[in-house]
Amino acid sequence: MKRLSGKKIAEEILSELRPEIEKLILNNIIPTLAVVLVGDDPASAVYVGHKKTACKSLGIRSLEFILPANTTQEDLENIIIELNEDSTVHGILCQFPLPKHLNEASIIDLINPKKDVDCFHPYNLGRLASDNPTFMPVTPYGIFQILKRSGVDPRGKHVVIIGRGTTVGRPLSIMMSLKGWDSTVTLCHSHTKEIRTICRSADILVGAIGRPKFITRDFLKQGVTVIDVGINKVVDTNHPKGGHLVGDVDYKNISDIASAATPVPGGVGPVTISILMFNCINAARIASGLPVLDM
Ligand code: NAP
Repeated sequence: MKRLSGKKIAEEILSELRPEIEKLILNNIIPTLAVVLVGDDPASAVYVGHKKTACKSLGIRSLEFILPANTTQEDLENIIIELNEDSTVHGILCQFPLPKHLNEASIIDLINPKKDVDCFHPYNLGRLASDNPTFMPVTPYGIFQILKRSGVDPRGKHVVIIGRGTTVGRPLSIMMSLKGWDSTVTLCHSHTKEIRTICRSADILVGAIGRPKFITRDFLKQGVTVIDVGINKVVDTNHPKGGHLVGDVDYKNISDIASAATPVPGGVGPVTISILMFNCINAARIASGLPVLDM
């Protein structure tokens, strides 16, 4: 089984983006991402840290708004409104999940679609569904880049996705069924019957569930490519940090069946961040009247 290293692919993408940023900076355009983090969820703080590091390594200016867990909806909305109005800010990212008392959907609706670098806004998802996207949904497009850069052609293939979440599974199902991607897509969820049988017909199987090692070898047909989106922390008292990360796939026990698979960590996660950087560059280009880059 080939290990599809997302880390390597992310480095490749970042190195392709570097000259694009240099060109913008030469034209006095400093791509700028504003990151809003509410509360003290440790995993969210880690993700924000990774995004900040990626910005720094590329020369994208990043602004951080770290707000306490008891921030009100009104205060958060006022920050988003200010960032929408600030012409030096090209991308706005509000790290989810928000604390329970805050309404995520209203925040997504409020972000200016031209600064929606996560591609969560209904306008941008609508453009994707109508085959005319501006921004690409970050994790789905990251998955596409992993397939493309690993020589796995999804055209005409049966892609089975487990998980219909709005950030990964559902936009991925739309994207892979568009002309050009040309996959035949099956989207599974917790009410899907005979899920193992459906999965065993997949040429490409994607797990976006959030359940540790849910996808075992009996879900796979010989030669399948497996993409593991899940990030699950499992308690491990022997581990110095008290736990470790596993994906949705039982990675260690599929090597004689799958032809290729992404590991967790070091798979989809780093590529997702590189696509976020790609979207930041495109947001800066849109604000400057330049055409968006393709990849
Ligand atoms: P989500 O919105 O909670 O969606 C989870 C999906 O899994 C739902 O559609 C749910 O079905 C389905 N599901 C749950 N149990 C199932 C079962 N027993 N059988 C079949 N389907 C089942 O989650 P998400 O935001 O899409 O995230 C999914 C995972 O990806 C999480 O581990 C998250 O941390 C990870 N993630 C990783 C990245 C990355 O960059 N690597 C990015 C985003 C998310 P129902 O709809 O029927 O409830």
